[in-house]
Amino acid sequence: MAKKQKTAISPTRTENYPEWYQQAIRASDMAELSPVRGCMVIKPWGYALWENIRRELDERFRETGVKNAYFPLFIPITFLEKEAEHVEGFAKECAVVTHHKLEKGENGKLVPGGPLTEPLIVRPTSETIIGDSFARWVSSYRDLPMLINQWANVVRWEMRTRIFLRTSEFLWQEGHTVHATKEEAKERTYMMLDIYRDVAESVLAMPVVCGEKSESEKFPGAETTLCIEAMMQDRKALQAGTSHFLGQNFAKASNIRFQTADKGEEYAWTTSWGVSTRLIGGLIMTHGDDDGIILPPRIASSHVVLMPIIRKDTDAGAILTYTHRIADALKKKKYHGRPVCVEIDSRQTGGARNWEWIKKGIPVRVEIGPRDMAENAVYVARRDASFRDAVSINRDRFIDGLPAMLDEIQQNLFNRAVAFRNANTRLIDEKEEFNRFFTPENPDRPGIHGGFALSCWCGSKACEEAIKQRLNVTIRCIPHNLPEAGETDTGTCIECGQKACRRVVFAKAY
Ligand SMILES: [Zn+2]
Repeated sequence: MAKKQKTAISPTRTENYPEWYQQAIRASDMAELSPVRGCMVIKPWGYALWENIRRELDERFRETGVKNAYFPLFIPITFLEKEAEHVEGFAKECAVVTHHKLEKGENGKLVPGGPLTEPLIVRPTSETIIGDSFARWVSSYRDLPMLINQWANVVRWEMRTRIFLRTSEFLWQEGHTVHATKEEAKERTYMMLDIYRDVAESVLAMPVVCGEKSESEKFPGAETTLCIEAMMQDRKALQAGTSHFLGQNFAKASNIRFQTADKGEEYAWTTSWGVSTRLIGGLIMTHGDDDGIILPPRIASSHVVLMPIIRKDTDAGAILTYTHRIADALKKKKYHGRPVCVEIDSRQTGGARNWEWIKKGIPVRVEIGPRDMAENAVYVARRDASFRDAVSINRDRFIDGLPAMLDEIQQNLFNRAVAFRNANTRLIDEKEEFNRFFTPENPDRPGIHGGFALSCWCGSKACEEAIKQRLNVTIRCIPHNLPEAGETDTGTCIECGQKACRRVVFAKAY
């Protein structure tokens, strides 16, 4: 038997996927859990990803007329009470501020003092506080549409936390819009979902299925929730972004009314939509391998690292000069609309240095030793290939060709992710096959289970609930376009057998 290949991350993805995820993040130096339970510290290598996501989204939001603003962190409890379903959905995970100062207690310990007459909640989402502003800002049809986005942190008290995927505090953007007509508000809901799809696929190289949530999975208080769903490498679904058509529910709750052109008065129509730092978790779980994280170039914290190799018998000054000249030339190049980001790592730690950058997922690594310099070359390795596949390339050819190489890596990562998703997506019409598909020990696919099952559903909550209870599988979305389903988008309900039902995406989910 062949000797087991040693990997940089232990355990491997197949050995223990959740543990691999934690270890891959630790090894990448992106983020860590903080002393505050359920909260994370995002380090520069991880935060740069968020800044890049933010820039990509902001550009697209702006093109559709959306402007950024900022609203308070605290929300009066009475605001949350205004929308019944909304309060129902969020009450169980709210952080509540009940005091406004600290006092010296026994043994000099600090204790909360000055109870608030009306407690405040830390925003779990901002529909109600932004709605309060909208009610004052909107008075006529001429004020509409109102298109606002905020970048903020929110708090949803989580008992079981997982870095980037489920934390009590996380970063996100939440867009909120007000419209004069239902049609326009609905159109906006779809428009923003398409922006999320575009950023997920063309920037994060993460293929997604777009669709609508079932009644039981939608946002509390929404009429319709649209979503993008991605498949992770453990074949579970990750909800990566949502866009809600709120009807007039929140307009009525917050009293957002406007005077129509013919001097009538109507309640407005609103939407909200958001993505969060969860996208970073999705990115890691879509592309990472057993040697760590792999960053798609368009979102990467940095594109290329230059590692000069200086030995005792070499002219260190010459190698460093050669390296810095290459860095300067690379920085003048543009990739995906921004200057190429270059790291120089001149620490002399041998193989460990190279492995550090592999684990950080930087798209391109370059080693520069005396022989490379003598040959006017560089020694180049791509993160989407094996570390053994490094090649020597002429210096100028490397510099000129880097943007094209980055594009190739970007495309390769996307193609890989699409191939993986397609290989784990099945059109299933037999209940027994459906059960086996989601059962760990199944004869159909030894060693692997789960994925996206495209199966039909009658629309009843009872069938949805029965499947969830039996297999821990939920309806991820009623897709707008089925991947690979072809013409067979109706059939009999996978649970109860009722005829002429709609095909939906079933999966286990994060
Ligand atoms: Zn049914």
